[in-house]
Amino acid sequence: MSLIFQVGDLLKKDIGETNEFDVKEAIPDFDPKLKILSPLAGLITLSHIDDGIMAQLTGDISVEIACARCANNFKIDFSLDFMQEYWVLGIVKEDVDTPRISEKNEIDLLPRIQQEILVRIPVKPLCQDLCKGVCPSCGQNLNIKACPCPPEIEKPESPFAGLKEKIK
Ligand SMILES: [Zn+2]
Ligand SMILES: [Zn+2]
Repeated sequence: MSLIFQVGDLLKKDIGETNEFDVKEAIPDFDPKLKILSPLAGLITLSHIDDGIMAQLTGDISVEIACARCANNFKIDFSLDFMQEYWVLGIVKEDVDTPRISEKNEIDLLPRIQQEILVRIPVKPLCQDLCKGVCPSCGQNLNIKACPCPPEIEKPESPFAGLKEKIK
């Protein structure tokens, strides 16, 4: 099984007819920032719509990614839930982004799934909410143990830091 579906038969049925597929499908690694840890497990529903096929996917997947603060790899589990239209080749519309059903009446859900995974990854992934990061002086991972370096002197970063002076 793969994430390419043959929809020729479904396109011959009435509008509104659906096919459901339970999937448990390994997703190949596709981005250097991520390692896919588990197969995608879920349900794919394909529906015959006016212009082609509507695919709906709900499922779960786990990936490994590096923490933005301490650089340790950690696991993120999340759900995927999206709908995507695939239009028959003959349809002429201005929207060039909607994928088309191939000449062999196949649709490939993998590109959309990969895109969805990237959207779900946080911009700054943290291994834990309060990740302490690494010491800028000695490189010790401060989540594991403290280091003997003196604490950094706090810089007045707050936009209100200078305000007190003015109020006086
Ligand atoms: Zn971390
Ligand atoms: Zn240190």
